[in-house]
Amino acid sequence: MAETYNFQAEIQQVLDILVHSLYTEREIFLRELISNASDALNRVQFEMLTNRDVQDADAELAIEIKVDEEAGTITISDTGIGMTRDDLINNLGVIARSGAKAFIQAMKDSQNGGGADIIGQFGVGFYSVFMVADKIQITTRSYKPEEPAYVWESTGVATYTIEEGTREARGTDIVVYLKEDAKEFASEWKVRDIIRRHSDYIAFPIYVGEGEEAVNKQQAIWRQDPKEITDEQYNDFYKMLTLDWNAPLYHIHMRADVPLQFYALLYIPGGNDLGILSPRKEPGLKLYARKVLIQEYNKDLLPEYLGFVQGVVDSEDLPLNVSRESVQANRIMANLKKTLTNRVLTELKRMAEKDRENYLEIYEQFGRFIKQGIAASPTDRTDIEPLLFFASTRSESPDELFTLEEYIERRVEGQDDIYYIIGEDFHSVSRSPHLDAFRQRGIEVLYFTDPVDPFMLMGLPDYKSHTLRSVDEADIDLSTVGQAVDEETVRREPLPEDTFTVLRDHFAAVLGGRVRDVRQSKSLTGSPARLVSDESGASRQMFRINRLLDRDYELPVKVLELNPRHPLLHNLSGMLQHDADNPLVNVVVEQVFETALLQDGIHPDPSAMAARLNLLMQAATGTPVTELDYEAVRTPAPEAAEVVESEATEAEDDAE
Ligand code: ADP
Ligand code: MG
Repeated sequence: MAETYNFQAEIQQVLDILVHSLYTEREIFLRELISNASDALNRVQFEMLTNRDVQDADAELAIEIKVDEEAGTITISDTGIGMTRDDLINNLGVIARSGAKAFIQAMKDSQNGGGADIIGQFGVGFYSVFMVADKIQITTRSYKPEEPAYVWESTGVATYTIEEGTREARGTDIVVYLKEDAKEFASEWKVRDIIRRHSDYIAFPIYVGEGEEAVNKQQAIWRQDPKEITDEQYNDFYKMLTLDWNAPLYHIHMRADVPLQFYALLYIPGGNDLGILSPRKEPGLKLYARKVLIQEYNKDLLPEYLGFVQGVVDSEDLPLNVSRESVQANRIMANLKKTLTNRVLTELKRMAEKDRENYLEIYEQFGRFIKQGIAASPTDRTDIEPLLFFASTRSESPDELFTLEEYIERRVEGQDDIYYIIGEDFHSVSRSPHLDAFRQRGIEVLYFTDPVDPFMLMGLPDYKSHTLRSVDEADIDLSTVGQAVDEETVRREPLPEDTFTVLRDHFAAVLGGRVRDVRQSKSLTGSPARLVSDESGASRQMFRINRLLDRDYELPVKVLELNPRHPLLHNLSGMLQHDADNPLVNVVVEQVFETALLQDGIHPDPSAMAARLNLLMQAATGTPVTELDYEAVRTPAPEAAEVVESEATEAEDDAE
């Protein structure tokens, strides 16, 4: 008795789209079925490494395809792992992938154009057969000796049935009943053609019709001589492996004999968004031992920061049937990892030096991973350093990047340290007040604008013994570095010492706990103020790291430096002396502080400044001071407000 089951709702939707739409590249259904057969063969091969108690242990591992032109059917058979009743229900009735919903949406968005591309990209796999079939019948028998055979049937509409059937041998037959408009696929010639184009590298023989010779080459591309492989073949294999529609940016094909014998074919993907679209769901390389796939995602062959690398490693030395935890296996794995890591880093370094344009394409996609390697793998640090590129005060545009070595070579007289500025993006850091003094003295400053840069800094305190220092460190002394400052550029006299002290005290009173201290700046020229930090090292960037990791963080409380020569502060000082009750004074003080926060890219809520800016513009355009609502624009910081009050009284007390 056949039992009827419903497809999961998402599958019904996918099927509905596939059954009712017309696509140009329908032939990929065969690629999907062959790839499933190959997976099933891989799995039984792996099982048999440790377990001989399987159905038909000696059956040839192969795929067989038969067509019946009259009946309009294609049958794909394999001697793979087979399926039990539960397997049929769980593997074919339920979509395990989270991508199903995204697929449905993408199909609806694209209408009919590009349908096959989307199917290929989302890898709807088995279900793609319903593009060409109005009925599918699967007869399968599991590798488990006591399991009976089952027959699964569906017309691709809402339900499927399962009943016990007969199949003596282990494996699976899939009979595809072709739709009227898809009968062309019931042709041996056509099937052979599709196999050669889409499935040539499948590692098991594919026999078509009565042919005794496999149609596919079966040659694992990574075991072939690199001289005999064209770029197109490399790219095709990458596409098969990842279903990534972008061509890879680079490939590395290795064959080694001593001390280890292995083959590896590694790729740097075209983009870093493989995640959603590709069947490669995790980082890791495919690991084969003597051509047998033993792990789909091996994460021990490359360090985590090179996790974006895709590809295949095939070892001749790894023991097949010994536990992979064994000492011998561990030693071999460690050796493989060392060799592969070295090779990838060496290739990247060579490109960074000799082929900068191509390297920077890779860096744009994967620079973040590489930077994380600095902090995460300290032992690789010196190998990673030459792979780092940054914009700087020398860059004409955000994509003009330099190496640390180039920076070192351009140091100015008296300069020992490497200076950097952290911020949100190229344009905002290049306008930062912190750069005033450096520009004036002709000192280059690197721009660290990537959110992972603060994290990278934890592993990069220096480069070739030159300390990396942030331009907002309070105690940087540039007086003996670079060009002497041309006094003519300093247009205005500084405020006299005692007048400045009054201004300073007023800032301190208004800002209260929002700043650690208010001081006179020795370095600012074009800007009224900046925030500096007297903490040192990576700890000062901890809040940025926490913000990156989505952890709770508190804004660091910094020191506000004021430029005693700046016209704004001259004006403000004048108001304090002659018009001390003017409420605009405190509004300006707060805006000066928040502008400095904004310029460092650490303002927690920039839009909150809008009301204050509007009020200042109103004042500037003529609204009488008495008509403005000051209380509404003061920063609502209750603790800070208290500090203001108490300090204000103290200041008054002092004055008396
Ligand atoms: P994927 O191959 O990416 O897992 P598919 O939709 O192509 O997704 O196949 C779904 C599942 O059905 C497979 O994971 C596998 O468990 C099962 N399956 C499909 N074809 C076969 C087969 N020929 N032999 C054994 N299992 C199969
Ligand atoms: Mg599949």
